[in-house]
Parts: sequence; structure tokens; C-alpha cells
Amino acid sequence: MPALLRQLSGLGGCIHPIRLDGHRIEYALDTATGEIGAALRHMASESMAAGHLLVRCNNRRTTRCPACAETYRRDTFHLITAGLRGGKGTPEDVAHHPRVFATFTAPGFGPVHNRPDSGRCRCGTAHPADSPELGTPLDPDTYDYEAAVLWNAHAGALWRRFTIYLRREIAKRAGLSQRAFRQHARVSFAKVAEYQRRGAVHFHAVIRLDGPDGGSTPPPAWATADLLTDAIRAAASTARVTGPTVHGRTHTFTFGRQLDVRTIRGNDFRGSELTDRAVAAYIAKYATKGAETATGTLDRPLRFLAELAHVQLSGHAERMIRTAWTLGARKDLEHLRLRAWAHMLGFRGHFSTKTRRYSTTLGALRDARAEYRRAQAPQTPEETTYVLSHWVFAGTGLTLAEAWLTASLEPAPGTEGEPTHG
Ligand SMILES: [Zn+2]
Ligand SMILES: [Zn+2]
Repeated sequence: MPALLRQLSGLGGCIHPIRLDGHRIEYALDTATGEIGAALRHMASESMAAGHLLVRCNNRRTTRCPACAETYRRDTFHLITAGLRGGKGTPEDVAHHPRVFATFTAPGFGPVHNRPDSGRCRCGTAHPADSPELGTPLDPDTYDYEAAVLWNAHAGALWRRFTIYLRREIAKRAGLSQRAFRQHARVSFAKVAEYQRRGAVHFHAVIRLDGPDGGSTPPPAWATADLLTDAIRAAASTARVTGPTVHGRTHTFTFGRQLDVRTIRGNDFRGSELTDRAVAAYIAKYATKGAETATGTLDRPLRFLAELAHVQLSGHAERMIRTAWTLGARKDLEHLRLRAWAHMLGFRGHFSTKTRRYSTTLGALRDARAEYRRAQAPQTPEETTYVLSHWVFAGTGLTLAEAWLTASLEPAPGTEGEPTHG
């Protein structure tokens, strides 16, 4: 029992660990001769309390694994924060670079139930904030499901087009050619995708203007938050992606007219403006959600359409999924992989992305954590040992008893830390 508790506590609360069969042998290594000596340590799955080596699932979705999603959220918080105020290898000067927080929406695909300032929705009802009808079409039969799904499927491409236009628009405002622009400035960003209730993806992004080498170089004198905001508005309104022709209709994708761009202030700033802490908390929160939390769809891929009969879905979510599934059968849309991403309502992009020079990476944060854990455990220095290991996949999840024990554990050291809200 104590051994099992120890093994489980190393998972930091993960409820769907990966189970591995195999072994790991550590040999002494004579650094002078390079010869391998005696086996120092032997670790084998059959002698472990759980009968397997257990590895965290690292799923980012709250609905799948709350503990791993929480780790992901904290890492994302640190990653975003580092790009806003420095730290983890990013210089603190980035706090003085022009930085904005922008939200890009999808266009309309038909009227939906909403809560306008005037109080009443077009259907005549004053919907409460938690009404399940909000975001669903007033008339599902005329709602443009085809365009809604295809828009999600092209949202990533539309974002890439926007970033190209943005550099162009900034260069133009600075009076530079695009080639010269690269010698003066660089645009860094971190973005996260979120689903609106109507099932359309929208993007939240931190966009920062740096000097030519990114965060470590000061931005040129002409680089201001106003110039950046103006360029973002111009680029977002002209970005356009030509989509497929379906049923004789050629789709073109643009962002919706609702575009929110706000300057990010430092934490010392008092007022109604956004602070870097609030932005980081906001982005981190959405990084752990999929379509399921906003739209009530599935949190994993469908294998057969018939599976829909066994899950509780809103009529709107089901119609989005069915549309994706049907379009997914078309040869000319094969590249969109709409069946594999039907549960995501067509969106197959990465949930959170960033440019290389925005700040650190999630991988680097994970490595730092592993390094910290190694430093806590007394061990033979690695360079004097030779390790042979072989592991094979043996399944996922916990047994009932393991799950019960896991629930009774306190969070493992090194997994507590950052605040939940900004
Ligand atoms: Zn997990
Ligand atoms: Zn309504």
C-alpha cells in the first residue's frame, strides 16, 4: 500500500495515466575507459506496486483529466506571462514593447438567440445568462451549417493569412519595404482558440512588436501600440481565404466584423485597461478547453456517426457534427479531415500556438520541472551511468482501487503554485 501510494502520488493526480510494461537498468560507467560496469539500479514494471510504470497522460482538456489540464493551464500561464513581462529566458524589457490583446471572431452564419443590451432576443424572450438556447440558431433550417463548419476548418489558414498581412500593414505604416521591415522589427504572438456558444472558433491573441531579434531587442521608435492596433484592424479586415466549391457555391472565409483590440498595461497600471496578469490568466484558462465546454459537443473523436445516438448533445452541436461528417465524405474535402475533427466542429488547428520568439516553450517548462524533481531526489550523477530501457504500451487509466487512492492524495510537490484567476 505505501509503495502504491508513492507511485500514484508521482502522477500528480492524473486519472488516465499511460501504463507501460518493461524495464530500465542503470549501469556504472567508467568515464576514463568508457567501459560499462555493474548494474546499479534495476527497475521493472512487474515489481512496481501498480504492476506497470505509470506516466501522466498530459491531456490538456479539463473534461478528460483535471490534474493534467491544470498543469497545462499553469504552464500556459507562465509561458504567456514570460512574453508579457519577461522571465524564463525572456528579457524583462518586453514589458515596455507595444503589446495588445486582440480577439478575432467568425462572421455570422444566421441569427442566433442572444442577450442584446435592449434586453430581448429576436425571438421575443429575455434569455437568462445560463440559458441553453443562447448561441443556437433562431431557425436551424436556414442556419448556414455548411459555411459554419467550413469556416472552422479554414480558421487556421485565415489566421496565417492575417499574420502575413499584419507584417505588411506594419511595414507600410513605418514607411518600410517588407524586406527592410525584417531588419527593423519583428512581430511575436501567442494565441489560443476558443469556441463561442454557436460553435464557431474565435481567437484570442497577444501580439507584441519587438526589435529585429525579437524580445531581446528594443522596438524601433515608430513602433507604438496605436500603430500596431491600426495595422491589426487593417490586416484582419482584408485577410481572406478562398475555400472549396460545394454544391455549386464557392466559399470565401473572412473574420467577422467584431474585432476587439486592447493595449496591455503592466501590473502597476491602475485603471480599466487590461493588465498582463489578466491576459495571461484568460489565455491559460481557454487553453484547457475544447469545443465541449462552450458548445456541449464531444471531447473525443467519433468513430461512427451512430455513436451520436448514445450521447447527450444539444440539437445545434449535433447538427454541426453531422454536417462535418457528411462533408467529410467528399473526396475534394479530404484534406480538411472533417470526420476526424467532427467532434471539434471542423476545427483541426492547434489550440494554442505562438511564434518562436514570443517566450519560452511548454516543452522547456516541462523539462525544467523534471529537472527540479531530479534535483530533489538523491541520485548518481547521470554522466557516470549508462541506461538501458525498454518500455511497451500496456494500456491507460487506473484500476478502481488506484482511482480511489488517487482521489485521497494531496497534490504532489511541484504541481501547486499559480493562481486560478488574474
Ligand atoms: Zn492525466
Ligand atoms: Zn431567443
